[in-house]
Amino acid sequence: MTRMSNSTLSIVAAAVILLLPLVPGVPAYLFDLFDNIGLAALVATGLVLLTGVGRLTSFGQAAFCGIGAYATGLLTTKFGWSPWATLPMALVASGLVSFVLGAFTVRLSGHFLPLGTIAWGMSLALLLGSFAFAGAHSGIGAIPPLRIGGLALLQPNQIYGVIWACVLLAVGLCHNLLQSRFGRSVRLLRQSAMAAAAFGIHPARVKLFIFVFAAMLAGLSGWLFAHDQRAINPTSFGIDAGIRYLFMAVVGGGGYIWGGVAGAACVLILKDVLEQVLPLVSANPTQIEEICFGIILVAILQMAPEGLWPLLARLRPAPRPEATAPAPMPPPAAPTRKEASMEMLRLVGLGRKFGGLNAVDNVGFAVRNGEIVGLIGPNGAGKSTTFNMISGALEPSAGEIWLKGQRIDHRTPQAIAGLGLARTFQHVKLVPDMSVLENVALGGHLTGRAGPLHAMARLERSEERALMAQARAQTLRVGLGGVIDRPVGTLALGQQRLVEVARALCNNPDVLLLDEPAAGLRHFEKQALAALLRELRAEGRAILLVEHDMGFVMELTDHIIVLEFGRKIAEGAPDVIRTSKDVIRAYLGAEA
Ligand code: ADP
Ligand code: MG
Repeated sequence: MTRMSNSTLSIVAAAVILLLPLVPGVPAYLFDLFDNIGLAALVATGLVLLTGVGRLTSFGQAAFCGIGAYATGLLTTKFGWSPWATLPMALVASGLVSFVLGAFTVRLSGHFLPLGTIAWGMSLALLLGSFAFAGAHSGIGAIPPLRIGGLALLQPNQIYGVIWACVLLAVGLCHNLLQSRFGRSVRLLRQSAMAAAAFGIHPARVKLFIFVFAAMLAGLSGWLFAHDQRAINPTSFGIDAGIRYLFMAVVGGGGYIWGGVAGAACVLILKDVLEQVLPLVSANPTQIEEICFGIILVAILQMAPEGLWPLLARLRPAPRPEATAPAPMPPPAAPTRKEASMEMLRLVGLGRKFGGLNAVDNVGFAVRNGEIVGLIGPNGAGKSTTFNMISGALEPSAGEIWLKGQRIDHRTPQAIAGLGLARTFQHVKLVPDMSVLENVALGGHLTGRAGPLHAMARLERSEERALMAQARAQTLRVGLGGVIDRPVGTLALGQQRLVEVARALCNNPDVLLLDEPAAGLRHFEKQALAALLRELRAEGRAILLVEHDMGFVMELTDHIIVLEFGRKIAEGAPDVIRTSKDVIRAYLGAEA
């Protein structure tokens, strides 16, 4: 079997799809079916991004189709616009409405979000049917066809090319988006909004973008639908249509870029086959059709819980392995930090209450550049809570936090990351199905500028290459070069912690917070980590280290803070701490 790269395969697939009308003998009714598949695939591709990747479940996409369809229906029939001129309006209308709805909806969590989409999905369809000037329930007829040159695209095999060009464009845009800094941030976001924020990602903005983009794809589908059918009414845009689109995305494979197309094809071809076969065997075909349809789709989901696309993808020729990346660049030298000894981080009277519990109580200490400070104490002492307050994930109930001379306790995690702070999480927060390299690159989010629109047009490739080179360098630095392309979820927990360290380093931090980085590491891995932390110290970075391995802490740190029940019970050089009676009682004694 010949080996083909993914992009060659995509180009061949695109050519086959677009040239189909030139093939003699394809029956006209098939083009009708293909057109419908293409229209649905546009909506479902948006849902792949929104629901499959972003985990924002929307039942309401059909409403955005309706907005696109009605925008062009009204403008062409009531105001005499040419169909092509209404395209931007259809996109703007669906984009604007989704922006307003999304601003409220994407902030909802758990079940409230899908419920929210059901609510406005129903009301928008009802709304469309309630305007007399839009034909109320009978809708709008006599919508003009699209024209290319002098040719009106009246036949299914004529509008086919336009529909599928749009589908291929949509798939291409989504593909580019997912292969970018923005796409990676969407995937981190669904894993952990807290981790995303810690690296400068704004969850609400990212969600709103994919929400609006998915709605605009639905709007485009609606616009095409109006000129394909040339008559529209509200029933096509109700909640049941919305459910069908969601179903297509899930059946096709919500996590895969071609999943929307696969799902639309599967559902609509199945429906078509049933419509042809059932009348031969039953006097009551419509009812049986619904039942058969349901059974088959549930069976598909049972057999392929990730959808059909991953099954189909296994059939294709094996892709050539990606070209090996250029030699890694050395990590950037940490410039000015070495110069004078400077206070990088200071906590003053810091406190945090959870209900009646003082998780952190009046804690104060400082970390200087070129210094590793250990923060130790038994489980529940308040170490992670302290980290969460420093990194902006939790608001302190009392006290002040100063980072490089600026007060940061009420700033956002994104702003704090932007000031040069990075952290790891005690409970790793990585994207398991993304490679080590891509996970590490998430840490460099703030070093990039390109937004999603640049990514879609692939205008950010040089920035992306620099970001990946940086991620590669940091991955090698923590000793994970051998597993750089492996999905993170396949690594041992200890190695996942090292991925967290590399990700933090990717932000080139002046202040580094490490929450139990050595837990789960083997002896030689701990030695390597200790060597790395010494190097980072020599570069002038300030490191605050939470760790339970006392040997590791005593050997590595310059200064130790001991917490117990949220309070600081001791502070000093490792030798002092080692012999402190309070500490031995509270902590080391428990270990011995
Ligand atoms: P450590 O990291 O030192 O083991 P933590 O900072 O995680 O300790 O927890 C300190 C205390 O605060 C514990 O008693 C813990 O149960 C409590 N705690 C931590 N986070 C929360 C929270 N989000 N809600 C309520 N209690 C919390
Ligand atoms: Mg902890």
